Amino acid sequence: MTCLLCDKPLHDRPTWQHFLGIQKDTSACPTCLEKFERIDQFTEDNILDSVHSIYAYNEAAREYLHQFKFMQDVALAQIFAPSLRSVLNDSKKIIVPIPMHPINKRKRTFSQVDALLEAANISYQSLLEKTTESVMGEKSRSERLAMTELFRVTADIRSNEAVYVLVDDIYTTGTTLRHAAEALKQCGVQRVEAVTLFRPIREK
Ligand SMILES: [Zn+2]
Repeated sequence: MTCLLCDKPLHDRPTWQHFLGIQKDTSACPTCLEKFERIDQFTEDNILDSVHSIYAYNEAAREYLHQFKFMQDVALAQIFAPSLRSVLNDSKKIIVPIPMHPINKRKRTFSQVDALLEAANISYQSLLEKTTESVMGEKSRSERLAMTELFRVTADIRSNEAVYVLVDDIYTTGTTLRHAAEALKQCGVQRVEAVTLFRPIREK
């Protein structure tokens, strides 16, 4: 086996298992994994009852997401499978991936959030559908604020007592997650949490 990030051969050494909580099914070498900074940052606001971001969005994370999303290297989903599994380990919670717009999905051929969850063997419910096409960054601030409905709930919410956990690859402004949480709450869901793989941290 070789490292998915640098292609160097992987040797089985016990010290790996202590690293980032990665078990023996690790798919990247310690040198590459070391570049990801685990932060486990928690925030909340009036719509999102809890947001847990696992790693800092640093240079390694940028490269990773570029390779994963735009080069469509689906095998890279394996790298964070152990960390996602340990964070999303409550079987009573309902996991809801943030979807891509259907047009983007066709272009990219796979949804990276679904791929992350599948690699980690986490069952999820695709309850949301994106209703606007464009990438947030291409819009002006006023255009962004004018877009009130970014997501539509596409299935019946059977138990609004359950805790719903949105999953996304990166937390930037939180707008996407808040819109998704709002859509669920309008359907009667009482508690919506979120987990993101990455989140930018302020430079020291
Ligand atoms: Zn490597």
